[in-house]
Amino acid sequence: MIERTLSLIKPDCVSAKNAGKVIDILEKNGFLIVGMKKIKLSKEAAEGFYAVHKDRPFFKSLTDFMSEGPIVAMVLEKENAITDYRALMGETDSTKAKEGTLRAQFGTDIERNAVHGSDSPDTAKFEIGYFFSELELV
Ligand code: ADP
Ligand code: MG
Repeated sequence: MIERTLSLIKPDCVSAKNAGKVIDILEKNGFLIVGMKKIKLSKEAAEGFYAVHKDRPFFKSLTDFMSEGPIVAMVLEKENAITDYRALMGETDSTKAKEGTLRAQFGTDIERNAVHGSDSPDTAKFEIGYFFSELELV
Protein backbone atom coordinates (compact mmCIF):
# COMPACT_ATOMS: atom_id res chain seq x y z
CA MET A 1 0.00 0.00 0.00
CA ILE A 2 1.24 3.49 -0.87
CA GLU A 3 1.64 5.40 2.40
CA ARG A 4 2.74 8.81 3.58
CA THR A 5 4.89 9.49 6.63
CA LEU A 6 6.28 12.57 8.34
CA SER A 7 10.05 12.98 8.38
CA LEU A 8 11.92 15.65 10.33
CA ILE A 9 15.59 16.46 9.93
CA LYS A 10 16.32 17.58 13.50
CA PRO A 11 18.29 20.70 14.56
CA ASP A 12 21.55 18.76 15.17
CA CYS A 13 21.55 17.39 11.61
CA VAL A 14 20.55 20.71 9.97
CA SER A 15 23.21 22.69 11.88
CA ALA A 16 25.85 20.09 10.92
CA LYS A 17 24.91 20.79 7.26
CA ASN A 18 23.87 17.19 6.70
CA ALA A 19 20.30 17.92 5.55
CA GLY A 20 21.24 17.62 1.87
CA LYS A 21 22.87 14.23 2.44
CA VAL A 22 19.74 12.95 4.21
CA ILE A 23 17.50 14.17 1.36
CA ASP A 24 19.78 12.48 -1.19
CA ILE A 25 19.60 9.18 0.74
CA LEU A 26 15.80 9.42 0.96
CA GLU A 27 15.46 9.91 -2.80
CA LYS A 28 17.95 7.10 -3.55
CA ASN A 29 15.87 4.80 -1.33
CA GLY A 30 12.70 5.41 -3.33
CA PHE A 31 10.96 7.97 -1.14
CA LEU A 32 9.04 10.66 -3.03
CA ILE A 33 9.11 14.04 -1.28
CA VAL A 34 5.53 15.32 -1.53
CA GLY A 35 5.96 18.17 0.99
CA MET A 36 9.00 20.00 2.32
CA LYS A 37 9.69 23.10 4.44
CA LYS A 38 12.47 24.51 6.62
CA ILE A 39 11.10 25.97 9.86
CA LYS A 40 12.13 26.76 13.42
CA LEU A 41 9.85 25.33 16.09
CA SER A 42 8.97 27.44 19.12
CA LYS A 43 9.28 25.64 22.45
CA GLU A 44 5.44 25.46 22.52
CA ALA A 45 5.28 23.99 19.01
CA ALA A 46 7.86 21.34 19.97
CA GLU A 47 5.82 20.53 23.11
CA GLY A 48 2.66 20.15 21.01
CA PHE A 49 4.38 17.88 18.51
CA TYR A 50 5.79 15.62 21.25
CA ALA A 51 2.71 15.80 23.54
CA VAL A 52 2.62 11.96 23.76
CA HIS A 53 5.92 12.16 25.66
CA LYS A 54 4.90 14.93 28.08
CA ASP A 55 5.26 12.73 31.18
CA ARG A 56 8.65 11.30 30.20
CA PRO A 57 11.76 12.43 32.11
CA PHE A 58 13.41 13.58 28.85
CA PHE A 59 10.49 15.82 27.73
CA LYS A 60 12.05 19.16 28.71
CA SER A 61 15.43 18.32 27.26
CA LEU A 62 13.85 16.93 24.06
CA THR A 63 11.69 20.01 23.47
CA ASP A 64 14.64 22.35 24.22
CA PHE A 65 16.65 20.43 21.62
CA MET A 66 13.88 20.42 19.02
CA SER A 67 13.44 24.21 19.34
CA GLU A 68 17.15 25.16 19.41
CA GLY A 69 17.44 25.73 15.64
CA PRO A 70 15.84 25.11 12.24
CA ILE A 71 14.49 21.74 11.16
CA VAL A 72 13.47 20.41 7.75
CA ALA A 73 9.99 18.85 7.74
CA MET A 74 9.03 16.53 4.88
CA VAL A 75 6.15 14.31 3.88
CA LEU A 76 7.50 11.15 2.25
CA GLU A 77 5.47 8.85 0.00
CA LYS A 78 6.29 5.27 -0.92
CA GLU A 79 5.01 1.70 -0.65
CA ASN A 80 5.17 0.90 3.11
CA ALA A 81 6.67 4.35 3.76
CA ILE A 82 6.13 4.25 7.54
CA THR A 83 7.93 0.98 8.24
CA ASP A 84 10.58 1.45 5.56
CA TYR A 85 11.52 4.93 6.76
CA ARG A 86 11.72 3.74 10.39
CA ALA A 87 14.13 1.02 9.19
CA LEU A 88 16.22 3.54 7.24
CA MET A 89 16.42 5.80 10.35
CA GLY A 90 17.64 3.04 12.67
CA GLU A 91 16.88 2.74 16.35
CA THR A 92 16.37 5.70 18.67
CA ASP A 93 19.81 5.51 20.29
CA SER A 94 22.24 6.61 17.57
CA THR A 95 25.09 4.71 19.25
CA LYS A 96 23.11 1.46 18.84
CA ALA A 97 21.68 2.11 15.37
CA LYS A 98 22.82 -0.31 12.66
CA GLU A 99 25.61 0.75 10.32
CA GLY A 100 24.29 2.56 7.26
CA THR A 101 21.15 3.89 8.96
CA LEU A 102 20.56 7.65 9.10
CA ARG A 103 20.95 7.77 12.87
CA ALA A 104 24.21 5.78 12.78
CA GLN A 105 25.57 8.15 10.12
CA PHE A 106 24.32 11.51 11.39
CA GLY A 107 23.15 11.10 15.01
CA THR A 108 25.16 11.48 18.22
CA ASP A 109 23.26 9.80 21.06
CA ILE A 110 19.76 8.77 22.21
CA GLU A 111 18.43 12.35 22.11
CA ARG A 112 20.42 14.07 19.34
CA ASN A 113 19.56 11.46 16.78
CA ALA A 114 19.31 13.48 13.55
CA VAL A 115 15.89 12.43 12.27
CA HIS A 116 12.28 11.72 13.21
CA GLY A 117 9.76 9.41 11.54
CA SER A 118 6.11 8.62 12.28
CA ASP A 119 5.59 5.24 13.96
CA SER A 120 2.08 4.26 12.75
CA PRO A 121 -0.65 5.32 10.26
CA ASP A 122 -2.54 7.22 13.01
CA THR A 123 0.61 9.01 14.15
CA ALA A 124 1.51 9.85 10.55
CA LYS A 125 -1.91 11.43 10.00
CA PHE A 126 -1.56 13.61 13.13
CA GLU A 127 2.07 14.53 12.43
CA ILE A 128 1.56 15.38 8.74
CA GLY A 129 -1.38 17.59 9.71
CA TYR A 130 0.74 19.27 12.39
CA PHE A 131 3.06 20.71 9.71
CA PHE A 132 1.25 20.63 6.37
CA SER A 133 -2.14 21.44 4.89
CA GLU A 134 -3.43 19.29 2.02
CA LEU A 135 -2.69 22.20 -0.38
CA GLU A 136 1.03 22.00 0.41
CA LEU A 137 1.32 18.34 -0.62
CA VAL A 138 2.15 17.59 -4.22
P1 ADP B 1 11.71 7.55 18.12
O1 ADP B 1 12.08 8.95 17.63
O2 ADP B 1 12.74 6.54 17.71
O3 ADP B 1 10.30 7.16 17.73
P2 ADP B 1 10.71 7.99 20.83
O4 ADP B 1 9.38 8.27 20.20
O5 ADP B 1 10.79 6.97 21.92
O6 ADP B 1 11.79 7.58 19.71
O7 ADP B 1 11.31 9.35 21.43
C1 ADP B 1 11.16 10.58 20.74
C2 ADP B 1 12.49 11.30 20.77
O8 ADP B 1 12.82 11.62 22.13
C3 ADP B 1 13.68 10.47 20.28
O9 ADP B 1 13.82 10.49 18.87
C4 ADP B 1 14.85 11.17 20.96
O10 ADP B 1 15.21 12.40 20.30
C5 ADP B 1 14.23 11.51 22.31
N1 ADP B 1 14.47 10.47 23.32
C6 ADP B 1 13.91 9.24 23.38
N2 ADP B 1 14.33 8.55 24.46
C7 ADP B 1 15.19 9.37 25.13
C8 ADP B 1 15.96 9.26 26.33
N3 ADP B 1 15.93 8.14 27.07
N4 ADP B 1 16.72 10.31 26.69
C9 ADP B 1 16.74 11.45 25.96
N5 ADP B 1 16.04 11.63 24.81
C10 ADP B 1 15.27 10.60 24.39
MG1 MG C 1 8.49 8.03 18.35
